[in-house]
Amino acid sequence: MKEGFRNQKLIFEEKKAIKLFLWLFYISFFSFDIFYYYIYPRFSKNHISDNLNQGLGYWYYILILAVLPMAIYLIRKGNPYVVKYIYIYWYILIDIIDVLLTYLGTSKSYASGNIVEVLFILFSPIFVNKKFFWTVTIGIIGKDLLIGVILQDITVLFPVIIYIILSSVASILLIRFNSYIDALTSVHDELRQKEKLAVIGQMAAAIGHEIRNPLSSLKGFTQLQKEQYPNTNDYYQIMIQEIDRINSIVNDLMYLGKPKVLEFKNSSIEEIIAYTLSITQHQAERQSVVVETLIEGPLPPIDCDAKKLKQVFINLFKNAIEAMTEGGKIKINAKVLKGKKMYVSIQDEGCGIAEEDILNLGDPFFTTKKDGTGLGLMVSNQIIKDHKGSFNIQSNIGKGTKVEVILPIFQN
Ligand code: ADP
Ligand code: MG
Repeated sequence: MKEGFRNQKLIFEEKKAIKLFLWLFYISFFSFDIFYYYIYPRFSKNHISDNLNQGLGYWYYILILAVLPMAIYLIRKGNPYVVKYIYIYWYILIDIIDVLLTYLGTSKSYASGNIVEVLFILFSPIFVNKKFFWTVTIGIIGKDLLIGVILQDITVLFPVIIYIILSSVASILLIRFNSYIDALTSVHDELRQKEKLAVIGQMAAAIGHEIRNPLSSLKGFTQLQKEQYPNTNDYYQIMIQEIDRINSIVNDLMYLGKPKVLEFKNSSIEEIIAYTLSITQHQAERQSVVVETLIEGPLPPIDCDAKKLKQVFINLFKNAIEAMTEGGKIKINAKVLKGKKMYVSIQDEGCGIAEEDILNLGDPFFTTKKDGTGLGLMVSNQIIKDHKGSFNIQSNIGKGTKVEVILPIFQN
């Protein structure tokens, strides 16, 4: 539906352009000839022969007018795109015939150059179409050169040079139009992407809110069951883990959709890192990943929402661990940069990220994992942004990834 709508608009634009073109073409065509053959000779001593008695004569005008009904028919039928091509080819054909009938075998010198051709070239950018621009330029210049060769007349070079200059001007216009349109299109696409995200976010927040309550009672009862029958089976632990997983996905989704209210408080980054490591320790051990922490302290407390930052580091540590299926080492480095910023880097020896994927990392639902959500980095990025911090990823495929987080120590 929307596509069809957009096409209609484009056809409408093309119709406007072709109508403008037709008016310009006929007005300039006839007024040039009336002026050149009837008005100009009356005031000038130069003798210009009457064009109605040479070449195609009246037929020249009849043939040029004859395509008009076809043009109108095509425009009405909703196919305005071909009309401009019909005109340029038809014009070139008739003009060649007319010129040859007029000059071939005579000693008359060829009167070259024509306002219609100038307009063809100068106005070709109104269709914002490179192919048409080249058709016009090559068609008209080629026609004049061809006539020059057939008539053995060097004077055709004069209009040819002028046309080359004019088409350079026209091509600059065309390039400007095109780049302007490209910019508009990309802004439009970006806006659409943002809108889409906003809608997804709101929906996710609403659904997430509804899911959270039943989820917490589910978790409560599962825990209760596990405590009441400690020896019945191991599945309760898995069930609780999976419920936690759903919970964290729901939290991510809700963070994206909700207006962000952060609770800034002075917190210790060491504590945040230590807490995060304790949460992910189990998973790290299971995958024989060792963690090496280098705190270049003492670190000052930073103004942040500790709960949200924990969420960021959990995401980042988990990504690092998940990238190291064969085990390895994660290096964590925290330090103060120039007294104002807190720097934390997480370097892993995992699979790395392919170059073409790095661009997609911020996109929601972009994941290369079988059971990934593709929300972790996006939410982390958003939280860091809400702290006025920045986020940087360097990766070497097969060697590992380094994620750097830089946070202001004081907000505002
Ligand atoms: P998820 O972890 O659910 O896939 P994320 O947003 O956390 O979603 O990560 C998106 C993708 O970025 C991952 O699927 C992975 O391909 C890539 N990625 C993120 N961190 C790392 C890392 N440390 N090493 C390798 N790839 C990573
Ligand atoms: Mg992740």
